Amino acid sequence: MPALPSLFLSHGAPSIALTPSAARDFLSRLGDAQGRPQAILVISAHHVAGRPTVTSGLSPRTIHDFGGFPDELYRMTYAAPGDPALAEDVISRLQEAGFDAIGDPARGFDHGAWVPLRLMYPDADIPVLQLSISLAETPEWHFRLGEALAPLREEGVMIIGSGSLTHNLRAVFSGGFQIDSPPPQWVTDFADWVGTHLENEDTHSVLHAVQLAPHGRDNHPTMDHILPLFVAMGAGGSDARRIHHSTTYGALAMDAYAFGTRATTRGCVNS
Ligand code: ZN
Repeated sequence: MPALPSLFLSHGAPSIALTPSAARDFLSRLGDAQGRPQAILVISAHHVAGRPTVTSGLSPRTIHDFGGFPDELYRMTYAAPGDPALAEDVISRLQEAGFDAIGDPARGFDHGAWVPLRLMYPDADIPVLQLSISLAETPEWHFRLGEALAPLREEGVMIIGSGSLTHNLRAVFSGGFQIDSPPPQWVTDFADWVGTHLENEDTHSVLHAVQLAPHGRDNHPTMDHILPLFVAMGAGGSDARRIHHSTTYGALAMDAYAFGTRATTRGCVNS
């Protein structure tokens, strides 16, 4: 079986599930473009824990971890099954790589996982696991976490880092942006810098983009939405392709990347 790529997706505001946008169109096509994996492992910006924690229940619930959105969003569910055996396997691999990993049978799917997956695989019939990030750990630690997951790509597991290429919510709320507002320069400069350095396989610079890139801290006042990128990079290898580029609400870059595609022929689904 050829290795699946690992993906980094920008999940945007939860309302992407309802409101038309270029990013929503992209995610709606992405499942067909990537094909059907045997299982999906999501590293979401919204699953934060002190140690690597894997969802290990059989039927994880849908978590509506957001406020102030239309009622319809709170009625949405994503009833994909879990996979306790695969969770044990992931935990073992992480432990062998030196991580203090555990399972959490009570943890459900947060919106960083279920919102994009509902667009990609609406039938919710592929087992899904989530793995946490840690705000106390470094970019390199998250990259190594991804490296420990990389062999799963050979076994039909799609690895998805789900965050946001830029994520300054204060700017979104105070900037008077509409969903289709053009991006300000400080957002475009950062997103393009990351794109260029990924294309150049300059892993070290990308891991430190918040310090090195133009307007790094403005785009990531906290690290939670960029850390999933580093896990996807570690899981996928150094070759990166930008498979989507757009913004929503001006300040949210919705860029997506595929890593490790060089050895496969899976197509670009840019829009
Ligand atoms: Zn988010």
